[in-house]
Amino acid sequence: METRVRFAPSPTGYLHVGNARTAILNWLFARHTNGKFILRIEDTDVERSSRQLEEAIYEDLRWLGLDWDEGPDKGGEYGPYRQSERLSIYQDYAQRLLAEGKAYLCYCKPKTRKDERQDVEKAHCNCYLLTEAEKRQKEASGIKPVVRFRVPKEEIRFDDIVWGEVVFSGENISDFVLLRSDGVATYNYAVVIDDALMRITHVIRGEDHISNTPKQLLLYKALGFSLPQFAHIPMILGFDHTRLSKRHGATSVRSYREKGYLPEAMVNFLSLLSWSSESGDELLSVERLIAEFDFSRISKSAAVFNPEKLNWMNGWYIRHTNLDRLVRLALPHLKKAGYDVSNLDFVTRVISVVQEKLEFLEQVPEMTSMFFQDSVVYSSEAREWLAKESSRKVFQAFLQELKQVQKITPEKFREIMKSVQKSTGIRGKELWMPIRVALTGRPHGPELPVVAELLGYDKCCKFVQKALSET
Ligand code: GLU
Repeated sequence: METRVRFAPSPTGYLHVGNARTAILNWLFARHTNGKFILRIEDTDVERSSRQLEEAIYEDLRWLGLDWDEGPDKGGEYGPYRQSERLSIYQDYAQRLLAEGKAYLCYCKPKTRKDERQDVEKAHCNCYLLTEAEKRQKEASGIKPVVRFRVPKEEIRFDDIVWGEVVFSGENISDFVLLRSDGVATYNYAVVIDDALMRITHVIRGEDHISNTPKQLLLYKALGFSLPQFAHIPMILGFDHTRLSKRHGATSVRSYREKGYLPEAMVNFLSLLSWSSESGDELLSVERLIAEFDFSRISKSAAVFNPEKLNWMNGWYIRHTNLDRLVRLALPHLKKAGYDVSNLDFVTRVISVVQEKLEFLEQVPEMTSMFFQDSVVYSSEAREWLAKESSRKVFQAFLQELKQVQKITPEKFREIMKSVQKSTGIRGKELWMPIRVALTGRPHGPELPVVAELLGYDKCCKFVQKALSET
């Protein structure tokens, strides 16, 4: 049987990394099994959903490389399924449940609008006892009913691919709303109708939905639909082991994209939250992820989102990507910083110099500021080097040597440094560090002879003079 999975985001915010991880695992499973990956927009919460956020989700999914396979044809491209366009389907099935006595019209007044939105569950609703005449009377007085599911008080069991057998008691579930008074379907109801009609074989989603599953199972049974398999993926936690939230820093895929993380690094990193490759390898191309994805390697324990690991991984992908692409990706960051990027050859050489050291592309302007600006900003560690007596001697000798040349090449620079060493007797760190901080403002960075060449004669001269005046 063909595998059919779905990703069902609600367009009420930017794509969260946790949801992206869910999308990735669904997509990997679909590609691994040659199945279908379906995108469904769960936009029944009209007040909080927006088309703009929906577009943003598509953009982020496309950026991650997660293509979807099905949906109503929207001018040559598959549009996603949108729940707001399927309301009449939900209403039809609700009529069926009403006719079969499995659901009833409820006229209890929600206390607040919020209660209504959150499907307030009424433990003591007796509306199913109302006679037709009583119902008509209520309706005549202007009350619009909701459709409530009559929960059978039975034990509910299911086998979760990750958690094994899960048991819930129906006693603890009160009659819940299927259709609100405005005719809009609730999440637990619409999700069942859609998953069944879309012939979803595996529902792979966050563990936070495990408590919704019993309600959904009751609906499957009431509607006579066959069950998909469920896999609830453990939550993602922040460094302090609480649920990942804004307190822990960036949580949307978009913010990582804007900071200059590469999509392949994001996919690799997120896929390893709760899942691991049998090989133990961590750097995995998307082809390998597809080939190796397997539910048996999903762990039950919550995954901790480690930003340092993401930086390490992204740095690896940055080092291994092609320079032209890196330049293209770095350009917006340079432009945003106001740098003149008209000389693409120069920009490319600058990027090649920092490629090794980058963790994400937002770092580019700061790391390359000396190449685009007329001054150097010293870090506090750099200032400590400037304050040393030996540094002063190095600067003086360096400027003296510069007078003998017109142009700086890496070889020339090495010769100059050798001469400075000879004339001052200063060597090693005490020799190189002052020049490094004078030219770049920082004690760490790319190879100095290459940096010097890129800076050119005038800037080398100017920056070392400036450093001398700071000693
Ligand atoms: N719209 C739900 C969410 O974003 C989907 C849950 C599900 O996959 O069933 O959490």
